[in-house]
Amino acid sequence: MVPPPCNGGGGPRSGGGGAGACAILTACPYCGVGCGVSATPEGRAATVQGDPDHPANHGRLCSKGSALGATTGLQGRLLYPEIHGRRATWTEATALVARRFSETIARHGPDSVGFYVSGQLLTEDYYAANKLMKGFIGSGNIDTNSRLCMASAVVAHKLAFGADLVPGCYEDLDLADLVVFSGHNAAWTHPVLFRRLEAARVRGQRHVVIDPRRTDTAEGADLHLALAPQTDVRLWNGLLADLIRRGAVDRGYVAAHVAGFAEVEAELARADQSPGAVAADCGVPLADLEAFFRLFAETPRTVSLFSMGANQSAQGVAKGSAILNVHLATGRIGKPGACPFSITGQPNAMGGRETGGMATTLAGHMDFDEASRARVQRFWGAPRMAAGPGLKAVDMFEAVADGRIKALWVMATNPAVSLPDATRVREAMAACPFVVVSDCMAETDTLKFAHVKLPALAWGEKDGTVTNSERRITRQRRLFAPPGEARADWRIVADVARGMGFGDGFGWRAPAQVFREWARLSAYENGLEAPTRRVLNLGPLSGITLDAYDALEPVQWPVTAGGGTARLFADGRFQTPDGRAQMVPVAARGPAQATDAAFPLALNTGRVRDHWHTLTRTGLAADLCRHAPEPYVEIHPDDAGPLGVAEGRLTRVQTTQGEAVVVAKLSDRQRPGSIFMPLHWSEAYAPAGRANPLVAKSRDARSGQPEFKHTPARVRPYRETWRGFFLAREAWSAPKGLDLVWRRIPQGACQLHEFAGRGDQAERDALRKALVRGAAPDALRFEDPAAGGVREAFVDGHRLDRVLFLTATGRLPPRDWLAEMFGSDALGAEDRAALLIGRPAGGAVETGPVVCACRNVRASLIASAIAGGAASLEAVGAATTAGTVCGSCRPEITRLLAAAAAAPKEVLHAA
Ligand code: SF4
Repeated sequence: MVPPPCNGGGGPRSGGGGAGACAILTACPYCGVGCGVSATPEGRAATVQGDPDHPANHGRLCSKGSALGATTGLQGRLLYPEIHGRRATWTEATALVARRFSETIARHGPDSVGFYVSGQLLTEDYYAANKLMKGFIGSGNIDTNSRLCMASAVVAHKLAFGADLVPGCYEDLDLADLVVFSGHNAAWTHPVLFRRLEAARVRGQRHVVIDPRRTDTAEGADLHLALAPQTDVRLWNGLLADLIRRGAVDRGYVAAHVAGFAEVEAELARADQSPGAVAADCGVPLADLEAFFRLFAETPRTVSLFSMGANQSAQGVAKGSAILNVHLATGRIGKPGACPFSITGQPNAMGGRETGGMATTLAGHMDFDEASRARVQRFWGAPRMAAGPGLKAVDMFEAVADGRIKALWVMATNPAVSLPDATRVREAMAACPFVVVSDCMAETDTLKFAHVKLPALAWGEKDGTVTNSERRITRQRRLFAPPGEARADWRIVADVARGMGFGDGFGWRAPAQVFREWARLSAYENGLEAPTRRVLNLGPLSGITLDAYDALEPVQWPVTAGGGTARLFADGRFQTPDGRAQMVPVAARGPAQATDAAFPLALNTGRVRDHWHTLTRTGLAADLCRHAPEPYVEIHPDDAGPLGVAEGRLTRVQTTQGEAVVVAKLSDRQRPGSIFMPLHWSEAYAPAGRANPLVAKSRDARSGQPEFKHTPARVRPYRETWRGFFLAREAWSAPKGLDLVWRRIPQGACQLHEFAGRGDQAERDALRKALVRGAAPDALRFEDPAAGGVREAFVDGHRLDRVLFLTATGRLPPRDWLAEMFGSDALGAEDRAALLIGRPAGGAVETGPVVCACRNVRASLIASAIAGGAASLEAVGAATTAGTVCGSCRPEITRLLAAAAAAPKEVLHAA
C-alpha cells in the first residue's frame, strides 16, 4: 500500500522534503517513460513504490525504478568542491570557473568554450545553462548527451511538423490495434510501457518488431522482421510504395494537410519497390514482409514506435522521415491509437529539447533565425546572443581535441565512457587547458580529467521538473536535505554566471522561479497562427506560485487554461508556415562504413535490462548487477564456431578504433554477421570491457547522431593462460603494470573482481602480492602447484576480509556462496573448512544468473520449478515469485518455458 502524501492527502500531490511515514511523489530518473514514484524517506534510505495515480505508469515500476531506494546512500558521492584535487570552498571554485571562462572568451572569443550537458539535468538546470551559453556568453556551444539517443528524431520531427513535436501519448498505446517497434527493444529499455502493451495484446493488439536482433520484444511478437543492419529506410519506403499500390493512402488527408507527397512518390519510383526486391535487400523472408505490409494496410489504428535502433545511425534522420512519411500518407496521426512515436532514452531528454539543451536550437523550439534571436534576446535582456547553432556532441569534443575549445564544462554526464571513439575523447579532455565537471559522484571516468570538480545534487535531493516521452511534465521532488556542500545544477550555473558579471539575468533563489521564467519564455510572443505560433507553450504556468509549483500535477504540454494536451495535430494543423505537414523524400543507403574481409561483422551496441548508462547509479544496487553481471559480446554460433570463440570464454572484439575483451555469449537471437555489446561498463568496472572506444565516429550529417548500431568489427579468442577472482569488502582495481582483463561485479556485502591474464606464474605472483597486501593476518591458504593455483582467505576476527582464487589449469568454484559469507559476522569452523577446500559443505551449486531482479530469483530455481511441473508464467511466479513484481523478466521466463518444452524429454523407462 502506498503511504499517504506528506501533505495529508486529499489536496494536490505532495511536495516538499523531509522524513516521516508519508510518501513524496516524484519521478523516476532512469528512462523516458517518466514513471511516477511514491517514495517514503527514512534517514538516507527510501522505500519506493510506483505512484498509482501517475498517468505514465499507474503504479508500475520496472526493476531499475523499484531498486531506487538502494541507490540513495552517500557511498561514492562528491560532496565538496575540489580544485586540482584539493578541497575548496564554493566561493573559490565558482570564482575560478567564472574567471577562466571569462578570460578564455576575452582572449579567444565565445566559441572557445563549451558546455556538454545531460538528459539527467532537470528542466530548470537546462534552462539556466542554455541561457548562460546562448544569451550571455554568446555561443551556441551547449549540447546534451541526448544528442546520442534521439537527435535524429528531433530533426525528422522538425522537417515534417515544423518543430520537434511528439504527436502521440501513452493512451495511444492502449488504443492501437497494431504496434510496430522499429529498432526499439521496449521490453528492456522501456519496461513499464511494454507491460502496458502486453496488457493491450490480451485484447488483441498485434505487435511487429523490426530489429536485426531477436530481442525480448521480438520474441513474443506476432511478427519479427530481422532485417539486415541499416536497411530500415528500404523497408519503410517499400511499405509506403505498397500502401500506394493497394490504394491504402488517405488521399483526402494528404490533400488537406500534407505537402510533398508527389516528391516522395517520385523518389520511391527510383528503386524497385516490389516486395521481392525489398525483402531481398532487407534480408527478410518475403512472406513475412508481405504479412507486415498487409497488416499495416488493414489496421488504421497503428502506432509506430521508434527509438535508438532507428536514431543511432548515420542515416537516422532518413529512417525517422521514412516512418513519418508512412503515417502522414495514411493520415495516421493526431487520432486515438494512431501516430508515429519517438520514445526517448533519458528521463529528461525532452526537457533539454524544449529549453535549448541542444546546440542546434535556441530555446523554446525557436531556431537561430533573426526574428527568434531578437525575440529571445528581448526576453532575456541578453547582452550577446549566439549567432547560430553551436557544435554538436562529437564535433564539440573534436574541437576540444584540436584546441578550438579551450574551456569545457561537463554537467552530469560521462563522455569519457559514453561517446563514440571514447579513447580519443579522453585524450581530448586530457589536453584541454581547463575542464570543469559537475557531478553527484566522486569517481567517474570523466572526473579524472577535471581541473575543477563541483558537487551536484543526486536524485532524491533535486527539486524541479522533467518531461517524459509523451510531453508530460512531472515534478521531481526532494526526499533528502542536500548532503555535504552539494548544490542544484541550476544554482551552480547561476553562481558562475554572476561571477562572470551576468548577475541580472541569474538572480533566481528557487527552482520555481526558474520554471516560471521558462514558462513565460515559452509563451512569449507566441501567436495563435503561423508563422509566430509555437505549439510548445506553458503559458498558463507563467505565474505559478511557489505553493502551486510544489504541488504541480503531471501535465502534458502544450498547457492550456483547461490543463494539458494529450494528442497533437488532431485538427490537421502543423507548425509549418502553411500549416501543412511536410513529407520528405529519402533514399535507402548502406551503412557509413561497410564490413569487409578484415572486419566482417557489424558491431551493434546498446543497453541491458537492469542497467542504466555507465553504472554510476545502477552499479550501487547489487540486485541490478546480477542479470548481466559483466560485459559481453553476443554472437551467432555460426559466426563463433569457425573463429574458435566459445560460450563463456573471454573474447577480443576489435574495430579500427580499438579493442575490448569480454565474455562471449553464443546465441541464435543474434543475426549471423552481426554482434552486440552492451555499452554500460566503464573503467571503474571493466577497463577492457568498454564498448564505446570501439565505435566509429560516423554520424548523421544533419542530426550529428553517432552510428552506435553499426561499426565493422572482428572477434577472436583471448586465450588466457590463467583465471581467478578476488572478493573484498572494498572495490579494487588491477595493479599498475600488469596487462590483465578484470571486471568488478558489486555483490551485497562485498565486491567480486574477476581476473584473467596471459602471463606466467610471475604475473599471478605479482597480482597476489598486490591483493593480499595489508590483509587481515588470520590467513587460510592452499596451494595447488600442479594446476598453477592458489586459494586464500583472510579472516578478521569472525568476519571474512578477503578471498583470492587463482588457477592456470584448474576449475574455479561458483562465487555466490563466498560472496554470501561476507554478510556473516560469525564465521565458524565449518565455514573455514569450506574456504580451505574451496567449496561449500554439500558441494558447490551453480545457481546461474539472476532472472528476476526484483525478487532475486535465479535461473536454476526457475528451471527447478519448470521441471517440477510449472508450465506457465503464472505457475512459475507462484512457485518462485519470479516475474510477480515489475514483470521485466517475464519475456525471459517465457523463453525458459519454451526451451524446456522443446527439450527432448527424459526416457523414464529405458529397456
Ligand atoms: Fe524508471 Fe523503469 Fe519507469 Fe523507466 S520504465 S521510468 S526506468 S521505472
